[in-house]
Parts: sequence; structure tokens; C-alpha cells
Amino acid sequence: MRPSLVTILGSTGSIGASTLDVIARNSERYQVLALTANRNVHGLAEQCARFDASYAVIADASLTDELKQALAERNCSAEILAGTVGLNEAASLPEADIVMAAIVGAAGLEPTLKAARSGKKVLLANKESLVIAGNIFIQAAREGGATVLPVDSEHNAIFQALPADFSRGLDSVGVERIILTASGGPFLDLPLEQMGQVTPAQACKHPNWDMGRKISVDSATLMNKGLELIEAHWMFRAGPEQLDVVVHPQSIVHSMVEYRDGSVLAQMGTPDMRTPIGYALAWPERIEAGVQRLNLSEVQDLSFREPDLKRFPCLGLAFDAMREGQSAPVVLNAANEIAVEAFLEERIRFDQIPYLVGLVLDHSERIPIECLDDVLEIDRQTRVQTTQMIKKRL
Ligand code: NAD
Ligand code: MG
Repeated sequence: MRPSLVTILGSTGSIGASTLDVIARNSERYQVLALTANRNVHGLAEQCARFDASYAVIADASLTDELKQALAERNCSAEILAGTVGLNEAASLPEADIVMAAIVGAAGLEPTLKAARSGKKVLLANKESLVIAGNIFIQAAREGGATVLPVDSEHNAIFQALPADFSRGLDSVGVERIILTASGGPFLDLPLEQMGQVTPAQACKHPNWDMGRKISVDSATLMNKGLELIEAHWMFRAGPEQLDVVVHPQSIVHSMVEYRDGSVLAQMGTPDMRTPIGYALAWPERIEAGVQRLNLSEVQDLSFREPDLKRFPCLGLAFDAMREGQSAPVVLNAANEIAVEAFLEERIRFDQIPYLVGLVLDHSERIPIECLDDVLEIDRQTRVQTTQMIKKRL
């Protein structure tokens, strides 16, 4: 059997690096076709040389010459593609079998959609694609004949705990509820009055997972869980009343599915993204992913509690946006991206993230989403509006 050819969108990030690690452990099964980065020229060139990639793609086209030089220094003959056009081309190369969608944020939407439209096996880490364009994405995957496999650990767990024919509808397969677990992040038990003083470094230091900075902040506000609710809503066709969140600080149970007869199926494992990445790469088979085995007697306690919506208002905002539908999730996501960036640059406080996102949602209309342009336009407007609010009020 020839190896499957894999493109990784966002290869220099945390998910990208973990994907390359799993590929390196299974080099007889997978071969790298194209790798992409936003601005990290040297990281990208290094990866391309090591994995003998056929294409090196840099999203920031002004860095093309630098990339050319960095590849030459490493004797790497990968063809260079650049800019949005280059990303979209990489996402839909005819010879690609698998596309790992691991760009962070709404920037990942267009190439991820391209991969879906061109009928690839799409490994979806970029949750923002489903959050802001769920309907459009599902339709593109259906029309393109793509197989979409969830990489987000919760959705991967749910996928593993659902019957293979769940797309018939959750009711038809006896599912009553999907329960997403949330670690609660680094500030689960911090005295509330200290939430305003936490630093970006503290917010990015997750107790269980090692992730990119944006998703780390989202995990600390629980916006990540909110985005994941909306992701699950689209991926599993689950109504808002079929979705729940429970806080589970140990991050051992990655999520659960509750059935009509009272059975609850959970997927467990040490918190390491290489498990869901390996699962999605090899599905329906299983491969070695380099993950430390779970030793439950060492873990000792698995605890669960209700999420505190006063401490984590972002979760409530996301629940509401999911119920409202239309443009609400696009506004939620764009306002959050700008707010998180401002927090990381120390222009706003941590507790101003939910405040700002709530304010922007209150000041925006709900508009029906019919096509990709609607999403892109609302995303753009919301970014401008949020940036202005930061300048004016905070
Ligand atoms: P990261 O910040 O570590 O990496 C992001 C990657 O995207 C990098 O390769 C970067 O170069 C690229 N990128 C950033 N902005 C871009 C732009 N404007 N255009 C093109 N490329 C761009 O992020 P991450 O933690 O690896 O997360 C990636 C995605 O996976 C996110 O959507 C995140 O929510 C999701 N995810 C991550 C984890 C995790 O453990 N890290 C878990 C579940 C889901
Ligand atoms: Mg997750």
C-alpha cells in the first residue's frame, strides 16, 4: 500500500507539531505533501527539510524570499506557495489524501473549506470553521464528498463513543445527551477578585494541556468550551438541549455520550493531543501515537462539577449565541479573537474579555448567514467594531 499524502495547514503550531510527531512514528503509512505557516519561516523550512515536503506554504507572502533562502540553506527543494491563494491551493492539491486543518482562528476557514470542497479526508482541529460557518462547512463537505474527522479531544471522544451511523440523527440512535468535559483551566479556583490581575503568562499556563496561546486563553475563560459547544452542535447535529458541559479538572475523561437506557459512554486517556490526532489520521484503524498509557491508580481521583457561569461568563455567552444562531456565533468568535489578542498584548485585562464580547454581542444585529461572503463580512465588521470599543471605552 502506498503511503497516504498529508497536507498540514498550520504545521508550525502546537497541533501541527504533534501531527508531524505522529507521522514520524508511522512513516510507512504517511508522507508529508505540503506544510504551511503564517510567518514562522525558519520553523517551516526546518519541517519541510526534515519531512521532505513537496510544498512549503507561507501565508504572509512578503516572506517568500526569506523562505526561499531558508529552504536553500537546508538543501530543500520544496516548491513555494504564498498568500491566501497559496494556502487555498495547498488545501486542495489533487494528490493529497488527508488535510489536517490546524490554523488557529477564523483565518483557517477558507483553506479548511477548500479541503472539504475538494473531497479530502479533513482532520478538523480548526474549530472556528464550524463555529462561524457550520452550515456552509457541512454542505461543502457533503457536496465535495469529504470525510470530516474531529481532532478536538472532546469531539474526538464523542465521535468514538457514538455509534458509526450517528448521522441518521441522535434521536434515531438512542442518544439523549452529549456531555463535554472542561478542565476549568488555570483559574478554576482563583479568588474571583483576582481574575482582573492575571497575566498572559499565567493564562497560557494550562494545568493539563500544552497548546497555542489563543486556545490557552480561551481555555482559561472557558470560551474554548463555548466554541466547542457550537462545534458539537454542527458536527453531531445536536440541539442546544442535547448539549451539556461538566467541569472535570483532571482532563482524563475527554467527553461522554448519554443514551436513552441510562448508559453513559466515556472516552479516557492521558491528556495528549497525539491520541485524537492518531485516531483521526488512521481512522477506522488505530496506530501508535507515542502517548503515555493511562494509569488510573496513579490519577486516583476523577472529579466532576457544574461550571460556574458567574466566574466564566464566556460560556454563557456562547450558549446564548448557539441558541440564537444566525450571525451570533460569528460575532462571538470575532469579538473574542480581538479581545484575546488585546489581552495577550496587555491592552485589556483578563476579566474584560467576557465584558467586551458581551458588549459587542449586545450592540450587533442578528443577520441570517447565507454564504461565505456573509460570514467574512460580519467577521470583518465585528473585528473593526471590537477594536474601536477597546480604543474608546476600556
Ligand atoms: P498555534 O497558535 O500553536 O498554531 C497555529 C498555526 O496556524 C501556526 O502554524 C500558525 O503559523 C498558523 N497561523 C496562524 N495565523 C495564521 C493566519 N492568519 N494564516 C495562516 N496561518 C496562520 O495553535 P494550536 O494550538 O495548534 O491550534 C490550532 C487549532 O487547533 C485552533 O483552531 C485550536 O482551537 C485547535 N485546537 C488546538 C488544540 C491544542 O491542543 N493546541 C486542541 C484542540 C483544538
Ligand atoms: Mg478541546
